[in-house]
Amino acid sequence: MAKYCTKCGKEINEEAVICVHCGCSLNEAKKVKEQDSDNIGWGFLGFFVPLAGLILWLIWRDDAPKKAKNVGVGALVSAIIYLVGVLIYVILIFCVLGAAATAGASAFALMPALLI
Ligand SMILES: [Zn+2]
Repeated sequence: MAKYCTKCGKEINEEAVICVHCGCSLNEAKKVKEQDSDNIGWGFLGFFVPLAGLILWLIWRDDAPKKAKNVGVGALVSAIIYLVGVLIYVILIFCVLGAAATAGASAFALMPALLI
């Protein structure tokens, strides 16, 4: 079975480590390709540890686009859920404060209850 260069596509010796046509290292190209694969695990990592997801996304962006995409999407989903959660929390506080003001009660009296 003939082997072809992953970079220039020309036929090369099966045992060749470096392509005789373009000079690229064949082992390295193969290694990078094997390391970069779709893995939902990276998505979960990005989701639960968004900061690590962001750092890994920046590292893998060029060398491992698939992994970078997985971890990036995980971090993005986590960030969106977090922002929506904060938004709901803020709206809830305003609703409670508004209700308290209408009822004539002191808004500050309700503060400890919001922290639970
Ligand atoms: Zn080549």
